[in-house]
Amino acid sequence: MSLAPLPDGSDGGIYRGRFAPSPTGPLHFGSLVTAVGSYLDARANAGEWLLRIEDVDQPRTLPGAADAILRTLEAFGFEWNGQVLFQSRRLDQYHAALNRLQFSGEVYPCTCSRREIAMRLPSPSVDGGLVYPGICRAGLATGRAARAWRMRVPDEVIAVADRVQGTVQQNLERAVGDFVLMRADGQFAYQLAVVVDDAAQGINAIVRGADLLDSTPRQVWLLQRLGLPTPAYAHLPVVNNATGEKLSKQTRAAAVPPSGGSALLSAAAHFLGHPVPSEMVGAPVPEFWDWAIANWSIERVPPLRGAFPGRR
Ligand code: GLU
Ligand code: ZN
Repeated sequence: MSLAPLPDGSDGGIYRGRFAPSPTGPLHFGSLVTAVGSYLDARANAGEWLLRIEDVDQPRTLPGAADAILRTLEAFGFEWNGQVLFQSRRLDQYHAALNRLQFSGEVYPCTCSRREIAMRLPSPSVDGGLVYPGICRAGLATGRAARAWRMRVPDEVIAVADRVQGTVQQNLERAVGDFVLMRADGQFAYQLAVVVDDAAQGINAIVRGADLLDSTPRQVWLLQRLGLPTPAYAHLPVVNNATGEKLSKQTRAAAVPPSGGSALLSAAAHFLGHPVPSEMVGAPVPEFWDWAIANWSIERVPPLRGAFPGRR
């Protein structure tokens, strides 16, 4: 088995992976590739595969998109374990995690507007924003109300062993600075929700797109400070469109037709370094899955990644 050592959970070390789409648009070919990679890795390791709808960012959530994603996954023959988890129903858990970090002094309130941060001429951050220069670290000026809550980060290199990309190293203070866990509008940040939920769902193997590689050291740091176990990570290559941008809702990537069958699944497997033998082309979907699960090997996934505009 190619899996990095799993945390010794009470579940006896059963692999537990997940797919966590954001319902900001339909499932496109890039998200299908991620779904296929995470599913094959879980099933090839006799593991479980859970689903989570990442609708924590309410303003970006598109009504009906979650349903459409679930129906499309079903049509492609994905079988998930247990109930689908919706982030929009878990705000209490995110609050509880933030409270713990407030209690231990790991987070602090920040009053800065984007403009005030920009006026300090901070360096560009690894996710396309600005490195937060720690303006509010020393405490709020009197009379100013908190807008957001930021996580303190160390001036230290965090190293993460990735099963596809190799070792990833990042100095959080230089690459991102103290990052936001709750935004000024009261929304919880993806970075907080994702670690709280991965821990709650007992996820010990994360397989997702390489556009999230730069977020991983932040998540590892958060997990450590919350006293939660660190999962194994594998970041898959990301599908770009003809102009070299990552397929996404922002670049208006087309929805995959739910009737795409083994032809589209084979294209996804091919993209992940697993070309499907010609006699399998056009096979019924269950036959494709049998072949793909039996032949999956994460060593064959090409690490190649472009430059991605990340997320805040
Ligand atoms: N919800 C994120 C996305 O759709 C994925 C988060 C993750 O896999 O950690 O890009
Ligand atoms: Zn501030």
